[in-house]
Amino acid sequence: MFRVLKFGGSSVADATAMSRVLDIVGGELTKGRVVLVSSAISGCTDGLLACAAGNLSGLDALRERHLAIVRRLFTGGERDSAAKEVLRLFAAMEAAPADEKVTFGELLSTRILARKLGCDGVAVHWADSRNLVVKDDLPETYRRIRTALDATDASVIVAPGFICSDSTGKVCTLGRGGSDYSAALYAAALKAESLQIWTDVPGIMTANPKQVPAARTIPGMSYRAALEMAEHGAKVLYAPTVAPAMEAGIDIEIRNTFAPDGKRTVISATPDTRAWVGVTSSDDTICLVGTPEADLTAAQSQVRETLRTAGIAPLEVRIAERNLLVRVREAVEIPALQALHRTFFGVRPLREINLFIAGYGAVGKALADMVGRTAGTVAERTGKTLRVAGIADSRRYRIDLGGMKDGLERNSVAGDFVDAVLDIAPKGSVFVDCTDSETLYKRYPDLFRGGLNIVSSNRRSFAIPYVDYAAMQAAARENGRFFRYETTVGAALPMLESLAIGANSCDEILSIEAVVSCTLNQILSAYGEGPTFASLVRAAQEAGLTEPDPRLDLGGRDALRKLLILAREAGVQLEEEDVVIEPLIPASLFDVSLDEFYQGLERLEPVFAEAHRNALAAGCRRRFVAFLEKAPGGAPEGRPALGYRAGIRVQQVPEDHPAYHLRGTENAILIRSAFHPTPIVIQGPGEGARQAAASLLNDILR
Ligand code: ASP
Ligand code: MG
Repeated sequence: MFRVLKFGGSSVADATAMSRVLDIVGGELTKGRVVLVSSAISGCTDGLLACAAGNLSGLDALRERHLAIVRRLFTGGERDSAAKEVLRLFAAMEAAPADEKVTFGELLSTRILARKLGCDGVAVHWADSRNLVVKDDLPETYRRIRTALDATDASVIVAPGFICSDSTGKVCTLGRGGSDYSAALYAAALKAESLQIWTDVPGIMTANPKQVPAARTIPGMSYRAALEMAEHGAKVLYAPTVAPAMEAGIDIEIRNTFAPDGKRTVISATPDTRAWVGVTSSDDTICLVGTPEADLTAAQSQVRETLRTAGIAPLEVRIAERNLLVRVREAVEIPALQALHRTFFGVRPLREINLFIAGYGAVGKALADMVGRTAGTVAERTGKTLRVAGIADSRRYRIDLGGMKDGLERNSVAGDFVDAVLDIAPKGSVFVDCTDSETLYKRYPDLFRGGLNIVSSNRRSFAIPYVDYAAMQAAARENGRFFRYETTVGAALPMLESLAIGANSCDEILSIEAVVSCTLNQILSAYGEGPTFASLVRAAQEAGLTEPDPRLDLGGRDALRKLLILAREAGVQLEEEDVVIEPLIPASLFDVSLDEFYQGLERLEPVFAEAHRNALAAGCRRRFVAFLEKAPGGAPEGRPALGYRAGIRVQQVPEDHPAYHLRGTENAILIRSAFHPTPIVIQGPGEGARQAAASLLNDILR
């Protein structure tokens, strides 16, 4: 008896995905022989179609993706011959007539899979679907498949999906998404015991989870219900797949390659018991798929009422057989789907939020850990369940929509985390940037467009020109996503939130005084009778508190980033060039080696000591202050007037100044505004991995 397993493009997207597929096949092999039908690797069919249309720009990358898979899966001589075969297939594709180019994607993926199984010692046979599947001729297709498979006793038969030939023998395809149908043809021909469609979502869901995060898996449904869902836009199953399986009486299982033991859908002859199956959409039409149990007339008014409450005016609501069709303007399609889903499929008590954490240092780890430990309480308090669905450091990543407990050690792969997240993340997921990357911000707009929200503790993402900063904000807004980064200044202290209150209420900022450099606060507040200034800097460096080169802190770089964030949050379009920095050390110490720098710093000890004594004598303490204050025409030379003056410097603060009492790495901010002439003061711990993680978590949940 055969079991037919079909894998879609994202299930074979790269070497890791393919290995997962081979694990699943291995598991099924213990129950019987397997026919493995595969799509082309994700994006390949589109790439080949572009090629056929004369656009060769993606060709090199596509070839390289296949070669990268080969390099990861094979070693030694086998690697060479596999790579040669890939190159041969690409050459054949380029030589092929335009309308046949698209058929090479499935050849590539299945040749690789078959070869790998062979290497693993499995008796494998590669079946050429181009000779076996005859388009629009079921009896002939079935006859050929049976004959071909009778002639082999291999335990795994690997067959390309999608491709076939027509009655004249010319190679062609079964249409986009057609690999599902190929699998059904093999299953029906062989009277298979099981037909499994392995994809990247947990079965057929009550709605597309990328559009409706509350969608849930439908455990069982009739062939007819599945057909209706597929015909009205559910992309998870190619509609023609249903008929051959139904005629042969074979159940279709829709399963998730990325969570093999998780939820799935079984499509069978058992009649539906529920009134409604799901809500789908294609083009401008939303379809509420009903069963014979559904009361369509009552539902029609429920639909109107639901949309009215959501502030949506439908263009049309009508009954079509057992379904309700609703047309709305494209701009409101998603809110309409979500509202209808809520009415007909109930609110899930919990909303699930997938987190993708980039940066797995102290903060990233603390966050993953905190999410795990607080899940229960958070769910109770907020109705949201958080799940760490992906983590990455600078070298590798790991994604598992089922959630992960252990870190990056197991199952991680090399590659571009953002691309992988964009491929798979349901809309509404949260991307958390806990890295120190100076370039990751360039991908933020892609993430927003891909439907992700962003929470960031990476202040380097904001020390960029104002236009880029504004573009990032616009991308978030236009895609209806949130973008939060409270952690970038003053760790968990609500500094940005407090400025937002002012900005949103058109309060006018008069001044901001921010004592937000943890390193310098630590050094300046410890300085006095004891160790020299230089040795305090060294101690801070050794404690990992400073940047690897402490001059970045002493020079005010870190304070500058924070000031840019604060000012822009307050609505001031501050640029780096507008900020006058008075570094704590003379310019001559910046260009020398670290050793010479420390020696120079020791020589400056009398200067630091005197400044300290002067401050004491005036009843003050020295603090490193980043400030922004209203000052008409206060811009530095050559800069357009901003209406504000901005700077970073060491300042003497008197005893009644909140910063006077700061200790260690504490931070403080004073905000004076038209509504708050006596300042708002926020003060407290300015660093710490747990504080940062707590602040990120709050941004995620807010
Ligand atoms: N590779 C083909 C497509 O992208 C067939 C499939 O994946 O089902 O349409
Ligand atoms: Mg498909």
